[in-house]
Parts: sequence; structure tokens; C-alpha cells
Amino acid sequence: MDFDALFQAQLDTLKEDGNYRIFAELERQAGKFPQAKCHNEDSPDQVTVWCSNDYLGMGQHPTVINAMKGAIDAYGAGAGGTRNISGTNHAHKLLEAELADLHHKDDALLFTSGYVSNWAALSTLGSRLHDAVILSDELNHASMIEGIRHSRANKVLWKHNDPEDLDRKLSALPANCPKIVAFESVYSMDGDICPMKEIVEVAEKHGAMTYLDEVHAVGLYGPRGGGISEREGLQDRITLIEGTLGKAYGVVGGYITGSEAMCDFIRSFASGFIFTTALPPAVATAAQASIRHLKQSDQERKLQQERVAYLRKRLDMEGIPHLENPSHIIPVMIGDPVKCRMIADYLMQQYGIYVQPINYPTVPKGTERLRFTPGPLHSIEDIEHLVLALKELWKQCAISHAVA
Ligand code: PMP
Repeated sequence: MDFDALFQAQLDTLKEDGNYRIFAELERQAGKFPQAKCHNEDSPDQVTVWCSNDYLGMGQHPTVINAMKGAIDAYGAGAGGTRNISGTNHAHKLLEAELADLHHKDDALLFTSGYVSNWAALSTLGSRLHDAVILSDELNHASMIEGIRHSRANKVLWKHNDPEDLDRKLSALPANCPKIVAFESVYSMDGDICPMKEIVEVAEKHGAMTYLDEVHAVGLYGPRGGGISEREGLQDRITLIEGTLGKAYGVVGGYITGSEAMCDFIRSFASGFIFTTALPPAVATAAQASIRHLKQSDQERKLQQERVAYLRKRLDMEGIPHLENPSHIIPVMIGDPVKCRMIADYLMQQYGIYVQPINYPTVPKGTERLRFTPGPLHSIEDIEHLVLALKELWKQCAISHAVA
């Protein structure tokens, strides 16, 4: 059988639909973020990155870089094993204690990514808790959806950010089955924020556990970067808080935090924790340095919020349509995959502005967009350059029809 032909046929369909992903090959240069070298043909050598999830530039912060360098000298490159078999380094335990403290929890558990933490934790909870029902916000991230699917637990979808619908769905369930309400704080593609207090109240009323993904909020919100749950004073009322070390903290890795018994339970049963090599200790040390820095420094968060507000204001002034939301994510809606790609290519080639087009299945068909994430290291000149480029594009007929 010609397997390559089978592969190619599906790739061709992706291309015809405009959903084939082309990656920008970047060379991040320490100390220069958001500027980066670009290795793609047709692109300028030097570009400004406008779509990074290194939201605060911590991936290039001297404190984080030096912590990582020091830890490599101290511990070497790799962890040397799974957590279970020789791979638990002192650095992992220090980071877990730091994370538990960040979220006001008893304990924390590290994973190799945020994706794996959601997948592993939800699949374990859903499969091990007898008769469990997982109530999932309909816009939850793929990693949560996959974890729930793999658990084979009963799944009930509730309307996005709608506590009343959640209440109705919970009311319809038998009183004595374990119920898990899974949701996010900041939704990454629309940038909206959940009504956390109302959701928690509904869950408490029904005796349900709450599972909160704060991946796009940790480091960014709350006085110590503990996320929306910290900002709203709800950390103690959420059963499990999940987060990443790969976005605002600028490194890589994922985690869950919660009670000692729950973390021990997931540590003991989650295959995604047990059967994989632990994170390099230097990664753990760098992430800990980043968390510690953002616990006591508000400077990056404040500057980011100023930059976000400035870009929003300038887009409004120029009549460039973008989704209103209360977060740091600015989606400019295009509504067509081919045009979205075309605009992104044009921005890159003509202006050295790199923004990845966001297409199906990351977002629903017809809602294709450019997702801008201004950070503290974008200068006012960078923002003005972006606005000028978008303004020029919007003036051109082809594009204004595309977004109408
Ligand atoms: N949850 C959400 C809501 C996400 O958007 C993502 C990644 N984009 C993840 C989890 C996975 O996190 P990580 O990138 O650390 O694997």
C-alpha cells in the first residue's frame, strides 16, 4: 500500500481548505525579544513577534536565564529517569513547593507540559472515580477534551461561561455520583474570562469538584501572578488549579495543584505522570526563578496591561475591528482561512510583522483571526508600526472586503 499517497491526499485537502499550517522558523535571540531572526524564504531577516505566548518576555529574562545556566552547571542536562525511577530531582520538589504556595494549596505535581497535565489529570480523575461525570465548558482546550475522552467517563457539555446552564445540567444528574466541573479562566482564542465566582457557587451547591485551567492567566493576573482565581480571592474554593510554565513563565512544563490526597492520587495513578522522563532539573529551576520573580514584581504585568490598552485604543482609532474582552489577548477577526493566511503573509513580507493565522480547528470555521499578544517588551514604536501596517491593509479593497 502506498502510505505516502494516503498521507498526501489528506494534506492536499488541508491545503485546499486553507488550513495547512506553515510555521515561521524563528531564531529567538536572548535579550532581543520580541525581535527575532526569521529563516523563511520571502520573509525579512529580522521580524517582530506579535503572537508569542511568552507573554511577559520571561523566557529571556536575565534572572531566568542565569538560573537555568547555574542549574545546568549544578545538575547537568537531563533528569536521568522518570519521576518514579531515579528522575525526581531536588529541583522538582522545590518547584512543586513554589507552585503549591503560589496557589495557596497543600501540594503540586509537575508534568512535562500543560497539555500533558490536563490530559493526565482528567483522564485519571474520570476513569478512577467510579461513576464520575465530567461537566466540561463547551470551549475547553483540546488537552482537556482529550483527557476527558480518554477517561471514558460520562461527559456533559455546558454552554460557554454560562453558570445557569451548568446549574441546569448539574441538577439533572443523580445526587450521589462524583461530579467534576472543568473550565478555564482566560480563554485563549477569544480572550474572555469566565464568571468564576458564579461557577464555583453552582459547583458548591451541587457538591461538585472544580477543575480550573489557568494556563493563560498564571503569572499575568493576581497580586502574585496566581491567576484569576488569586485576583478574585477564590483559590481556596477551587479543588484543582492547573497551569503551565511555558507561557507567562517563559520556560516549559505543566502542573496541577490541590490537596495532598488529590495530588498523591494523581501521582500514583496517572500514566502521563508515571511513564515519562521528568523535566530537566534546569528547566524546573528556571521556572521556579520565573515564578518567584513574578510573585514579587508587578512591573512586567503593569507594562503589559499598558501596552495592551494602547494597542486596543489605536485599533479603535483606526477602525480596525477586534474582539472586545477584558484580557491581554487581542483577536482581529478575518473570517476566512485563505484571507487570514494572505494577510499574515503580507504583514510578514512587507512589514516584518509576524502573527500566525489562527484557523480551524483551533477556532470554529468562519471565525479565522489574527491573535495579537502585546507584551511589556513591545515598544510604542512597535505598536505604531503594527497599526500603520494594518491601516494600510485595511485601506486596500481586497482586504476590507475580506473582513467586512
Ligand atoms: N490549556 C490551554 C487552555 C491552552 O491554551 C494550552 C496551550 N495552548 C494548554 C492547556 C497546554 O499548555 P502547554 O502549552 O504548556 O502544553
